[in-house]
Amino acid sequence: MARSVLVTGGNRGIGLAIARELAAAGDAVAVTYRSGEPPEGLFGVRCDVTSTADVEAAFDKVEAEHGPVEVLVSNAGITKDTLLAMMKEETFTDVIDANLTGAYRVAKRAIRPMMRLKRGRIILISSVVGLSGQAGQANYAASKAGLVGFARSLAREYGSRNITVNVVSPGFVATDMTADLDHEAIVANIPLGRQAAPEEIARVVRFLSSDDASYITGAVIPVDGGLGMGH
Ligand code: NDP
Repeated sequence: MARSVLVTGGNRGIGLAIARELAAAGDAVAVTYRSGEPPEGLFGVRCDVTSTADVEAAFDKVEAEHGPVEVLVSNAGITKDTLLAMMKEETFTDVIDANLTGAYRVAKRAIRPMMRLKRGRIILISSVVGLSGQAGQANYAASKAGLVGFARSLAREYGSRNITVNVVSPGFVATDMTADLDHEAIVANIPLGRQAAPEEIARVVRFLSSDDASYITGAVIPVDGGLGMGH
């Protein structure tokens, strides 16, 4: 039977590439979306990950359609960049709420059914800046670093239940999120000398979700063209 997969923020960008990659591999993939229409060919559930009620309702729908979620990809994320001196408290907490507490909400909802299944894969999408830091992104970097401690704690709590929890740490990926950035300046610092395509992140997520990755947990996998070398 096809595995039940849920990708948050799966309606565009990296999340959509992950959803399509896993669907092509034969999984029953559901994606969350917040507005508009779900992407064609994928089961869409409306969900804002800052709302516990939305998360609950989304999982209920996915379970009814595809069965308990066996692979959870927590990908939804936002940036609200500004220097600390100018950063309002809500600019900090909004980013933490979406990127870090959002991951908590979906993992928390997923974990008991995974324990009952006696298997599961949780993959959290962090960022190279979580470990390297980035001027203007203290909120975002804190949220992305937080995912590492969160994932590693879950890896310890649920390893004995055959549930792996890993972090994928992309570098500079061509999506809406990076459309307005100074590409030339960033690419100059990337050993591979180019941006990643979303599919290059998606293929690593597919690997981590596969049987080939059965002995990997608590890992942070950089997919950054060498940008974060050593992190
Ligand atoms: P996009 O801005 O293209 O897409 C973001 C996705 O997250 C959208 O699907 C969006 O939904 C969803 N989302 C945002 N906030 C919420 C929320 N509160 N509830 C539900 N969904 C939400 O970004 P990317 O595809 O580039 O980024 C995906 C992930 O990868 C993020 O976590 C990002 O931090 C991370 N990342 C991206 C990098 C890059 O270079 N692009 C580098 C490193 C990490 P909607 O369409 O409704 O807005």
